[in-house]
Amino acid sequence: MNIAALYHRSDSEFAYLYSPDKFHIRLRTAKDDIREVSLVNGDPYRLWGEWHIDLFNEKLPMKIIASTDANDYWMVEMSAKHKRLHYSFLIVGNDGKEMFFCEKGVYPVRKPYISNHNYYFRFPYLHEIDMIKTPDWVRNTVWYQIFPERYRNGDVSNDPVGTLVWNSKEPKLNDFFGGDLQGIIDKLGHIKSLGFNGIYLCPIFKSPSNHKYDTTDYFEIDPAFGTKETLKKLVNECHKHGIKVMLDAVFNHIGDSSEQWRDIVKNGTASKYASWFHIKEFPVSYAETDIVGVADLTYDSFAFTHHMPKLNTANPEVQEYLLSVARFWIEECEIDAWRLDVANEVDHHFWKRFRKEITDLKNEIFILGEIWQSPQSWLRGDEIHAVMNYSLTEAILEYFIRGNISASEMITTMNRQFMLYAQQTNEVMLNLLDSHDTPRLMTVANGNGELVKSVLAFMFLQTGSPCIYYGTEIGMFGGEEPGCRGCMEWDENKWDKDMYSFIASLVAFRRKYSDIISFSNTKWETDDERNIIKLEKEHNGSILVGIFNNGTADLKIAFETPLLSSETRIEKNNTVIGAGGFYIGINNF
Ligand code: CA
Repeated sequence: MNIAALYHRSDSEFAYLYSPDKFHIRLRTAKDDIREVSLVNGDPYRLWGEWHIDLFNEKLPMKIIASTDANDYWMVEMSAKHKRLHYSFLIVGNDGKEMFFCEKGVYPVRKPYISNHNYYFRFPYLHEIDMIKTPDWVRNTVWYQIFPERYRNGDVSNDPVGTLVWNSKEPKLNDFFGGDLQGIIDKLGHIKSLGFNGIYLCPIFKSPSNHKYDTTDYFEIDPAFGTKETLKKLVNECHKHGIKVMLDAVFNHIGDSSEQWRDIVKNGTASKYASWFHIKEFPVSYAETDIVGVADLTYDSFAFTHHMPKLNTANPEVQEYLLSVARFWIEECEIDAWRLDVANEVDHHFWKRFRKEITDLKNEIFILGEIWQSPQSWLRGDEIHAVMNYSLTEAILEYFIRGNISASEMITTMNRQFMLYAQQTNEVMLNLLDSHDTPRLMTVANGNGELVKSVLAFMFLQTGSPCIYYGTEIGMFGGEEPGCRGCMEWDENKWDKDMYSFIASLVAFRRKYSDIISFSNTKWETDDERNIIKLEKEHNGSILVGIFNNGTADLKIAFETPLLSSETRIEKNNTVIGAGGFYIGINNF
């Protein structure tokens, strides 16, 4: 038995309340090293005296829920009826050895270790208030991300000076095409007919740029996008159709056109906003360097962009100001979620306050962070609910698109990520394959529509709530920013109609099988030689099966009518998945 690989930590993603009456306990072991694990557990106060004997009568079997190249992860979901919990693991190795793994270490299964309660892991009391809570509705949401300047021009009267003819050219960094909130209202039918029930809007507050990540005034809708009334109307219409609305909060930095920064430039140290920023030297200044996009600054900013001075969120005045912004749009327009830009560069202290105040105001609000690395320290239940799951994106693209890793390596990366978070967090992660910050999926797939379908279907089978970037449904192309921010094509003759019906089926499939996808663990099988992946998700007597043939030869399977498929045909009594195709089916028992 590989004792060095055994890992557990109480009060972490290895031991947490999943719901008020369910407690999850996980254990990590070396891969393929352990035959059996059981959990001994009980309330210490009920079992005083010869208490360990009772504990051993009540032991619970644990099951492997995920594996990586190096580890197996075991789990048991147990009733939280004992509010106070002492527990340890009884482990039987493939070598036949039996060990007792407890807080003090790894010992033979005998006295004095098993009989002394001081050796056990403890959960002194399971407090519901400390449980990681995530909004239920997010599990059943399929998001549609919109970059408002490029979606639809619904009101030419608000077009900025120099607005170009819609779709007349490839977008450049500073172009304006006149898209606005009225355009989104006009096209809600399109969004609704595809089945989306969540809209995520890139920033819409007053700002001089087309992307609006350099805010001038957080309390005003950009005049080129509309007014507060237009946003109210948009949210109302969305809610009428069961669609949630998420806005983008850019709180890491503000725009240099803001009143606050202009005051700094004008009044220097005498400015009432002098402590609102991270300023190294007054007067503030910047100089271009030889490196494009990297300015030499006397203050901290987003990246090295002099337009975006970084806010000092440790300052109580700044905190109060930003919180008043977050509260305002919930109260004024009843939005359902905040997406937090550059969330990883804002201090934890501020996000904890943000979480408390915002959820006190609207209990079911969803808070999503933009964090590209593993975001464990933000996901402990008192800051954000989830992140844009770029770790998952990267693993999937490395395998499916770039071919840099094998299927097994992809699964190892994905499972390592899943095991970093509590189940209720994984269920609400925003899974995506592209966004306003990355090249479009169709472009990275070199225009291979079947590959796009396959990779989207794969992503939609993963735990978490999937997000589609606008235009994917009609086969839009677009490279690195600003290429990925092109004008939405509204001439239906130019649409990839096959892709449109595929996306509609995919969204309908995800919403129909939401429970299986959200609440089950995934059983994986891979054949790296033939480049085939099979996954199974089981929940309440149904097994959802996905098979992806990324090899070069046909794959014959016994399963019948698919729920969703690509490059797949029925031959005699078999289903044949062609090279590059996939099959998703269900067996009910
Ligand atoms: Ca307009």
